[in-house]
Amino acid sequence: MADQEDLHRRGLMFILSSPSGAGKTTISHMLLTADEEIKLSVSATTRPRREGEIDGIDYHFVSEAQFDEMVEKDDFYEWAHVFNHRYGTPKGYIRSGLKEGQDFLFDIDWQGTQQLYQKDQQDVVSVFILPPSLVELRRRLESRGTDTADVIEGRMDRARGEISHWAEYDYVVINDDVDQCFVKVREILHAERMKRTRQTGLIPFVRELME
Ligand code: 5GP
Repeated sequence: MADQEDLHRRGLMFILSSPSGAGKTTISHMLLTADEEIKLSVSATTRPRREGEIDGIDYHFVSEAQFDEMVEKDDFYEWAHVFNHRYGTPKGYIRSGLKEGQDFLFDIDWQGTQQLYQKDQQDVVSVFILPPSLVELRRRLESRGTDTADVIEGRMDRARGEISHWAEYDYVVINDDVDQCFVKVREILHAERMKRTRQTGLIPFVRELME
C-alpha cells in the first residue's frame, strides 16, 4: 500500500507577508516548530542585528559592501529596500531543495513576493496576514517596547502601504487570535502540498495502480 507521504512532490515556496506587528514572525516560528518538512529561507540584510537575533539563523547580517557584492554577483532570488535597509533572499540551496521536495518558508514583503512570482510562479504560495484593526496594530507595536515613537509612526505608515497589496496574495488570514490564525495558515500549507501539479510521484503511482 502506498503512503502518500513517500510519493515524490516538488517543494513549495510558502510566503508569509504582513505589516510588521500583525503576528507574522510568531506564526512563522509556530509553523517551523510544528512542521519538520518546512525550513526557513534565511534572508540577508543590512539592518543591524536586534537583541536576541542570531546571525545565520534569523538573518545573515551583512555590510552594505557585502550586500552590493551579492547583488553584483546575482546571488539573490529577489531583494528590496525595506525601512531604509536592504533585504534579500540568497539563491543558495533553494532551487535544488525545491526539486528534492523541500518546502521553504519566506518571511518577505510584497516587493519580494512579486519578484518570486515573476521568477517561479508554479512553486509559490503566498499568504497575507492582516491585523484585526490599525488601532490593534499600533497597540502591538507599542507593547513590543523595542521602537521609538518615530519608528512606530514610520511602521504605521508602512503598514498602510503593505496592506494595500493584500489583493496580490493567494490567501488572506486575519490575525485576531494567534492560535486560530496559525491553524488556518497550517491548513493552507497542508492543502497546497496535496495539489495535483506538485505531486509528481502520482504519475508512476497511478500508472501502476491502473496496470
Ligand atoms: P524586520 O527588519 O522587522 O525583520 O523585517 C522588515 C521587513 O522586511 C518585513 O516585512 C520582512 O518580511 C521583510 N523582509 C525580510 N527579509 C526579506 C527578504 O529577503 N526580502 C524581502 N523583499 N523582504 C524581506
